[in-house]
Amino acid sequence: MNFSTSQSLFERAKQLIPGGVNSPVRAFKSVGGTPVFIKRAEGAYLYDEDGNRYIELINSWGPMILGHAHPKIQRAIAEVLPHSFSYGAPTRREVEMAELICHMMPSVEKVRMVNSGTEACMSAIRAARGYTGRNKIIKFEGCYHGHADSFLISAGSGAYTMGSPDSLGVTQGVANDTLTAPYNDLQAVQTLVDANPQQIACIIVEPVVGNMGCVLPQAGFLEGLRKICDKEGIVLIFDEVMTGFRLARGGAQEIFGVKPDLTTLGKIIGGGLPVGAYGGRKEIMDSISPVGKVYQAGTLSGNPLAMAAGYAMLTELNENPQIYTQLAQITQKIVHGIQQTLQKLSLNYTINHIGSMYSLFFTDKQVINFQTAKTSNTQLFGKYFHKMLQKGVYLAPSQFESLFISVAISDSDIEHILQANEESLREIHQENI
Ligand SMILES: *Cc1c(COP(=O)(O)O)cnc(C)c1O
Repeated sequence: MNFSTSQSLFERAKQLIPGGVNSPVRAFKSVGGTPVFIKRAEGAYLYDEDGNRYIELINSWGPMILGHAHPKIQRAIAEVLPHSFSYGAPTRREVEMAELICHMMPSVEKVRMVNSGTEACMSAIRAARGYTGRNKIIKFEGCYHGHADSFLISAGSGAYTMGSPDSLGVTQGVANDTLTAPYNDLQAVQTLVDANPQQIACIIVEPVVGNMGCVLPQAGFLEGLRKICDKEGIVLIFDEVMTGFRLARGGAQEIFGVKPDLTTLGKIIGGGLPVGAYGGRKEIMDSISPVGKVYQAGTLSGNPLAMAAGYAMLTELNENPQIYTQLAQITQKIVHGIQQTLQKLSLNYTINHIGSMYSLFFTDKQVINFQTAKTSNTQLFGKYFHKMLQKGVYLAPSQFESLFISVAISDSDIEHILQANEESLREIHQENI
């Protein structure tokens, strides 16, 4: 493959954009090499500036669950396009969007639209603090909740991969209010709660983690959090920016049967346009302005183009629940195929998967939290990543990310992925000997 156009664009980009990218994980820093610059995408494929084609396993980090440039979403955007692009005043579609979200995710009784997952999480903890009158929050090591100051403590993926688990520019004062526990460790949570009586406003958690690679909650973990929160008057926030509308119509909370007080949403909810949302119990959401005293606002929140795309996306998912069966089948075929190859090559690597998310960890340890995820051989992952890219499969450029499957992936794509996987694993191990 030739990457010369991408390489020259990256050289230009680095002159004017920090690191040449507008979000750090795109920079290929943890896998080395030059990022490919994408020109267009359709269905299951990405096409770069040099004309290379890749099978998509990231899908814009989740949103493109129906595949790229889906005709229904295109049509929805095209329909509203002539009516101008922003009003800064309420619209019918925002009402319909709120109705649809609350319908699909019953724990959400009221919802506020924002422009990103970061904004959703930042606003949700502010609401929890305002509602409880408490200051501290608990988050889990390796969970990512966007880049607001309070969350850049043991923040997983991007932050970890860049070698700065705690960002400069976050004050000690803010950091002091963020307590962290290992994922899947209820005892650690209980210890934090006991040590800070009446001070914890909320526990925020990815009910299935995508941001240290795909990591599942162990039996009883989410239920245990619910119990602790009920007992201590703590607001339980599920960050479903990744899992919402991906693992099921009603997100991870539907699958695991645990009801959070607040939920944060993003990614899929915008159909590829910049949208986030947070919502949950009425009495908590009513602490937000203009009803309550927790201030939160947004000039472009509920933007008509974004609402058109998001509404079309959610409608498609709401009306076609078989999409989730399809997604799980595609993912299972891929995961099963990789497992067979691992066996054939006598490799002990760990694969975690659920629904349409999976990660291949280059470790023989079971991966249940950030510490075990970090036992992965990231150098080997970097080599694997580039082999796959050369063979036309676009993976997330970090060991500590989940992959996201779309329904656009066909059986012949799966075959291509599995063949690339087997060749790549074989090659990196031959080179390693
Ligand atoms: C992506 C993500 C965010 C941040 O969303 P942005 O739209 O990138 O700001 C927050 N939480 C989780 C779980 C995410 O995966």
